[in-house]
Amino acid sequence: MKIAVVGCGYVGLVTGACFAGLGNQVICVDRDVQKIGLLKRGRMPIYEPGLEELVKENSKKGSLSFTADLKMAARRSEVIFIAVGTPPRPNGEADLSFVENVARTIAGEIRSYQLIVEKSTVPVQTGERIQQTLARHARKGASFDVASNPEFLREGSAVQDFMNPDRIILGVESKRAKGILMDLYKPLKSTILVTDIKSAEIIKHASNSFLAAKISFINAVSRLCEAAGADVEQVALGMGLDRRIGRHFLDAGIGFGGFCFPKDLAAFIRISEKLGYDFELLKAVQKINEEQKENFIRKIEEAVWNVPSKTIGVLGLSFKPNTDDMRYAPSVDIIEALKEQGANVRAFDPHAMPHARKRLKGVVFCKDSYSVCQGSDCLLILTEWDEFKELDLQKVKKLLHQPVIVDGRNIYDPKKMKALGFRYFSVGRP
Ligand code: NAD
Repeated sequence: MKIAVVGCGYVGLVTGACFAGLGNQVICVDRDVQKIGLLKRGRMPIYEPGLEELVKENSKKGSLSFTADLKMAARRSEVIFIAVGTPPRPNGEADLSFVENVARTIAGEIRSYQLIVEKSTVPVQTGERIQQTLARHARKGASFDVASNPEFLREGSAVQDFMNPDRIILGVESKRAKGILMDLYKPLKSTILVTDIKSAEIIKHASNSFLAAKISFINAVSRLCEAAGADVEQVALGMGLDRRIGRHFLDAGIGFGGFCFPKDLAAFIRISEKLGYDFELLKAVQKINEEQKENFIRKIEEAVWNVPSKTIGVLGLSFKPNTDDMRYAPSVDIIEALKEQGANVRAFDPHAMPHARKRLKGVVFCKDSYSVCQGSDCLLILTEWDEFKELDLQKVKKLLHQPVIVDGRNIYDPKKMKALGFRYFSVGRP
């Protein structure tokens, strides 16, 4: 199939490269000419395991190409995926102006039948808006359908997730659109659920909000464990053995971040409000998530006593491991709060340093974990990268000014840390 994917971010680039890998002719479009320039030279604008190889292989074969010319790409394609950003407005609502721009631009290019698919995470009823926009700006006699195909890939394992999804959701309103998307996804051999467009749109927001709620739930339980002297890891294990609950997303920590959960949660609350329903449950999920960071700052204060002029070492900046993404990372709020109190911050992340340098001012960025430890009064773990789990802790202890670790991701065993002579603070564990 001839496909255009609009937006070369985490979702668009992975979608484009994977569809090309599945035997389609794909053209990826981005309005960011620098990004397109990089991609044309075989360089990746983002870090994602396996992506570079897939892009290079398919570019070489001629099944994957890149352009900033949306109109040309739209004219040449049977299916157009919209995978542009839907960032939050200050009131939490999703900003759909990028989606609208794409719809307006491609409308005039539609001649014979084309299928326009929303891949971006959008509020329910956006499909109708896209349909109206296309109809308003299309030429006479143009024929098209709109469909919703929300994406569930996770950054850090995006290619793997795209190729092996738990389910594929197709929100369609015509047999023709259904047939095209079923054909396109056939090679993935996954469960395909066909729904109407609005239900597909809600499935995405409801899924992310539910996962965020699971994280806030265990974080709330961790507070209780701290107050009572119980161990949240054992509680999570005990809960997770119940198949109705499951162990996933029951890791207490410093709260969720990233480009999806905070914004999708806020957007879902706003859509509900607009539709006349006050989604109080999700407001509590947001509140608990914010409190988790404040609670972590209190732990640091307990660990070092006075924060001003202390040197705090930070390991991990990305919002989760195996990604370079710093958007809405809890590390940003925590580091800014410490800097505001007058701390000196030294930091390292295996992949997020380029983004971190732009995002965080007045931080000393170190070449590795051990240089972060050098002379720090306290070491924080903010992202659970595997390499931090394998550090030589004797060496860490020698390098630190004080052997104090405040672990926001529970990556070490408290008993072992005590035996090694650390003052070790973690989340929800005695
Ligand atoms: P991103 O910010 O990484 O990429 C979006 C890209 O779209 C940018 O490169 C931008 O330049 C481009 N763009 C914006 N307007 C454009 C236009 N008019 N024409 C061409 N290109 C344009 O975003 P992302 O993380 O890939 O997310 C995209 C969508 O997918 C969002 O709605 C997001 O919520 C959703 N989503 C993201 C993830 C994730 O893990 N990142 C997972 C599932 C769904």
